[in-house]
Amino acid sequence: MKFFKSVTAIALSFTMAMAVAGCSSTTQTTTDTTDSTQTTTEQEGTTSDVKTYNIATDTTFAPFEFSDENGDFVGIDIDIMEAIAQDQGFEVNWQVLGFNAAVQAVKAGQADGVIAGMSITEERKAEHDFSDPYYDSAVVMAVAAENEDITSYEDLAGKKVAVKVGTEGYNFAESIKDQYGFEMVAFDDSNSMYQDVLVGNSVACFEDYPVIAYGIKQGLALKLNDKQEAGNSYGFAVAKGENAELLQMFNDGLANIKESGKYQEIVDSYTK
Ligand code: GLN
Repeated sequence: MKFFKSVTAIALSFTMAMAVAGCSSTTQTTTDTTDSTQTTTEQEGTTSDVKTYNIATDTTFAPFEFSDENGDFVGIDIDIMEAIAQDQGFEVNWQVLGFNAAVQAVKAGQADGVIAGMSITEERKAEHDFSDPYYDSAVVMAVAAENEDITSYEDLAGKKVAVKVGTEGYNFAESIKDQYGFEMVAFDDSNSMYQDVLVGNSVACFEDYPVIAYGIKQGLALKLNDKQEAGNSYGFAVAKGENAELLQMFNDGLANIKESGKYQEIVDSYTK
């Protein structure tokens, strides 16, 4: 764990430097305390008793996490986590890794938790502990907006279907691939998966409804199949048996921001 302590120390001193330089930072420093015990321990840049957690996430999964037009990394997951951190008094060091990499990083102990529109599944519970669900989802097929040929899974026979590694959409496609006779083409991120359909290499992709519906609303030239597959709700996850304190704080903070209206305010700010 030594490595992570030093990463945390670097992250903290970076945060402090940002604050000193007057840069805007979403994290808080502890310099507002007048507590004398605090002051005596304020040496060599290890000033804070506020814990910083390394939280892994996806790269392009709007509206949950994505870079906005100003290049800022934003999204429902980011804001929920930051609001919970503020409510519970901890800080977040973001690790923007991609979905599968984020899940693997937590499993390998390289990050404390993952929030990435990650569906709570029985299978994943073998290796992760999940928070209370915070957003409902479902898996849906999408095709190019002008495509009139693919209207059901039967139409996928002999064609290519784009999927994203390690996701529920991937697992669903795999579960019906032999039955409907299509080939899967795997990508690490959602945007590359959509592109494969847009350029016509794949005829369809499988993605989470809230994400692809948002993309289409933003101008992505895809359209949705009517049929939605039952999906699982999103949860924040830690490695099984690890970081119980963080998981508890997430659940407590989530309840608090739901109660205060902050949760709904965050969701509305992206979806309305
Ligand atoms: N909800 C999906 C899953 O958990 C996809 C998550 C994602 O691509 N970020 O598998």
